[in-house]
Amino acid sequence: MLFIDGKWVEAASGRTFNAVNPATGEVLGQVADGRSEDTRAAIDAAAAAFPDWSARTAYARAALLAEAHRLMLERQDELAQVMTKEQGKPLRMARNEVGYAADFLAWFAEEAKRVYGETIPSARADQRFIVLHQAVGVAAAITPWNYPISMITRKVAPALAAGCTIVVKPAEQTPLCAVETFRVFEDAGFPPGVVNLITASDPQPVGDELLTNRAVRKISFTGSTDVGKHIAARAAEQMKRVSLELGGHAPFIVYDDADPEHAAKGLALVKFLNTGQACICPNRIFVQRGVADSFIDTLVERVGRLRPGNGLDDGVTIGPLIDEPALAKMQRQVDDARSLGATVRAGGDRLAGEAFDNGQFWAPTVLTDVTPDMVIYREETFGPIAPVVVFDDEDEVVAMANDTTYGLAATAWTQNVGRAHRMLKRLQAGSVQVNCQLVFDHDVPFGGHKQSGWGHEFGKEGIDMYMKTKSAWIQL
Ligand code: NAP
Repeated sequence: MLFIDGKWVEAASGRTFNAVNPATGEVLGQVADGRSEDTRAAIDAAAAAFPDWSARTAYARAALLAEAHRLMLERQDELAQVMTKEQGKPLRMARNEVGYAADFLAWFAEEAKRVYGETIPSARADQRFIVLHQAVGVAAAITPWNYPISMITRKVAPALAAGCTIVVKPAEQTPLCAVETFRVFEDAGFPPGVVNLITASDPQPVGDELLTNRAVRKISFTGSTDVGKHIAARAAEQMKRVSLELGGHAPFIVYDDADPEHAAKGLALVKFLNTGQACICPNRIFVQRGVADSFIDTLVERVGRLRPGNGLDDGVTIGPLIDEPALAKMQRQVDDARSLGATVRAGGDRLAGEAFDNGQFWAPTVLTDVTPDMVIYREETFGPIAPVVVFDDEDEVVAMANDTTYGLAATAWTQNVGRAHRMLKRLQAGSVQVNCQLVFDHDVPFGGHKQSGWGHEFGKEGIDMYMKTKSAWIQL
């Protein structure tokens, strides 16, 4: 069902599509297949709801966001079950994601109250200059499948906090997560039209309507760089505001003054997180020659401990890939690397056997002897393959790390404080981490450099993305 103007409705065409479990191939349910006219109805509802919603006090908007936060945590286990079945990540990780998703609702509920204006001194005693921040209008959110609930709340929460109303189009692989998230919004009591959901098997008609309908003033997109460029180009025709969280090709650098075993354990955590399907996952692992052997040995040992399987089963630590094209990409990258001289130290193939045959399982993989001519060195993997490159000095590795059109995240491990500071400055990425991994906080802005995106989510910048600045002059 679609959620339009506070009601669950069928698609106007009556069509549906299947939601499928990537671990078992089982059909989990049918979902309404929205098209242009459904999207138009959702935009109309959001436009009609905007004057009242944006005129409410920040405290009133915050109270509903806080209620959504409460309900999401109350339903954490049910939401996690749906996520594991539909997206594949192990239940414990799904539960963590629901908690993380709910945090956005709480954080932006508070942030709504801190949208301050400014008074600027005038040269004349009888004039005042005032700067106001106002909601941009109807917003649209297009989200991916890898974090199917938190990607929705990290857009919906700041948009509603700012006073925007919103239309969400989730990924076609995870519509049930979106539907369950919207049940939380419905039960929290947002007025009709404030939040609207269009699930769809074909993104084009929905995307085209969001991009061409004049009522939509802001598009927030998370997904691949190719689709992000298409959205930026089309949005420019009406000067719609756009924020884009796009692909990454993160370098992970281990210097020989760092503890290689500690760094390898950190890498095993972040690289295989969500089966490698996270935008910040390290894609190129650079290790300095002096510590290469111990780093690789520890990494291979840690990867050997991962337990692939159905995320609902106890003890499973890594789930399936999302679909067949994702598996085909792993095969293509590994075949290419092998043919050009890479060594497979772990995994290297699709997993076979009764537990795996109906799903899309790739064995957690470590490749060494990786070189710049290999596809995996250049192309985002988005899967559980760790390609390792050995380097000799700092200038060489910084050049290699920055030799990509992406600039989302980067990590360096070093005990040299001067080098740590140089890494913060020299690595071309929106998030740089030294001696740690996966440090994300709602207070800290997150966004990509280069072709990894425009704008920020999280932090005070997160709400700015849904606001416009107005300058006002008053003659006293
Ligand atoms: P994708 O193919 O770009 O899809 C993302 C969303 O865009 C989906 O909802 C998709 O719908 C929709 N879409 C596709 N074509 C469209 C069009 N022409 N008009 C409007 N919408 C369209 O990306 P993905 O494969 O789902 O996600 C993986 C990518 O996302 C990776 O590159 C990853 O790095 C990136 N990502 C970035 C971040 C970040 O914060 N920077 C976070 C997570 C993921 P359908 O599902 O129906 O195709």
